[in-house]
Order: sequence, then C-alpha cells, then structure tokens
Amino acid sequence: MAVKIEKKIKGYSVVTPEDKAKESARSEAAARKAVDELPTADVIQMHERIERPEILIGSTYKIKSPLFEHALYVTINDIVLNAGTEHELRRPFEIFINSKNMDHFQWIVALTRIMSAVFRKGGDVTFLVDEMKAVFDPRGGYFKPGGVYMPSLVAEMGAIVEDHLKSIGMMHDPDMSDAQRALIAEKRSAYEQRSKKNSDVAAVVPAAAADAGHAEDIEVTGEGVSFPPSATMCHKCSTKAVVIMDGCATCLNCGYSKCG
Ligand SMILES: [Zn+2]
Repeated sequence: MAVKIEKKIKGYSVVTPEDKAKESARSEAAARKAVDELPTADVIQMHERIERPEILIGSTYKIKSPLFEHALYVTINDIVLNAGTEHELRRPFEIFINSKNMDHFQWIVALTRIMSAVFRKGGDVTFLVDEMKAVFDPRGGYFKPGGVYMPSLVAEMGAIVEDHLKSIGMMHDPDMSDAQRALIAEKRSAYEQRSKKNSDVAAVVPAAAADAGHAEDIEVTGEGVSFPPSATMCHKCSTKAVVIMDGCATCLNCGYSKCG
C-alpha cells in the first residue's frame, strides 16, 4: 500500500528479521500475561487421587450407649482444599472408631473403611447420614441424654457424621422461620407457667405428690434445653418433647402440633 508522506522525513530505520522476532515475542508475552491475570477457574474438588497430607485436622466425638459397657470414640479427619483462597473447602477425609469394646470390631472396621473410601471419592457424601440414621437395631434403640431417641448405634454414628458435616459447612439445618421460633417459645413458656402452678398446688398435698409435681419442672441441662419427663416422642424430630396442651399434642422442640 502506498503512503503519501506529507511531513519532512527526520530519520529512518529498516525493519530487520530480528526486530520482527522481538515484536512477536513481546506480543506473545503480553497474551500470556493477560491469560495469567484472568481469574482461574480450577478449584480443586475432593476426588480419589488427592493424596493424604502428612497432617489432617479433625474432631473426636464420644458415644456412650447403654448398649455398650465402654464408650466409643469416633474421629473424623478433614482435608482443607484450596486453602487461603475464596474457594477454601473443608471436606471429611477419613473416619476411625476406637473403643475398649471389641464385640463389633470387624463390622466397625469394615464400616469405617468403606465410609473413608466414600469420603475420598468426593461429591455429595451427605447421603451417608440418611442411610445410617435409618438403621434400626432389632433389639431396640435407646434414649440419649436430652431425650433424643437413637434407633441403633449405627444411627448414632450417622448423627455424629451429620453434626460434623454441619460444623464444617457441608450440611445446614432447615431454616426455621422467626414466626415458628416465636410460636415454640410461646408454647414452652405457657407450659412452664402451667407446671409451676401445678407444683404450687401440689405443695399443699402430701409430699409424694409434691415431688411428682416438682419432677415436671423443665430443667436446662449442660447439653442445652431438655424437656419435661412426661413428654412423649415426636415422630417428626425424634425427640421426647411432645406434651399435651389444650387437647393438642405439641412438640416443644420442633413445634409440630396435632389436635384431636
Ligand atoms: Zn418435634
């Protein structure tokens, strides 16, 4: 293409092959830099080829069941992926169970190895919680302090995995609305008022009856709130927290209510 030069020429140089090479190298570097500056999308997710780091962080939970003479200690270790970035994830990596009790040793070893393998496969491992919590012991379950019914030891392990996954942000409680929470608090205080009145009445009748009245007081234990001893099992939240109020069965834990 012809270019008409309208100004005076003050100097000139010839483009050599070296200049051309330098120029293309420069544009290549610029392109590479632009790519480097793009936000990277390779967030590491849990998968089975991730090697176990030398050190893992974890938590140990204690299970004390009336079905066992000795306590069981459940340890879940976590791996931290993408540490220090906005994509930081804490994922369960392995589970161990320790106990003096050797009765169920082979099954416990098998269960924990398979669970660890599922953890390392990655993806949504929360299904383990539902599967384990649905295991019923044909010899019958037991109540934990606080009145939560455990249908089996495996179910309690499932509850521990659930607590753990909640603590690392992999599972969340279903949201309870403010109105629902307020309703439960209201029912609870109404029930407390009534049982207080009952125990005042009981104070003028023989001592044994007074004791029975007193036993109905709701105590707050170290484990959090507990429910009246006469409360029955709620089928919605598996907690012994259902009381009869105004002819309606009312759960003081989750607010479930059934009249009639
Ligand atoms: Zn309930």
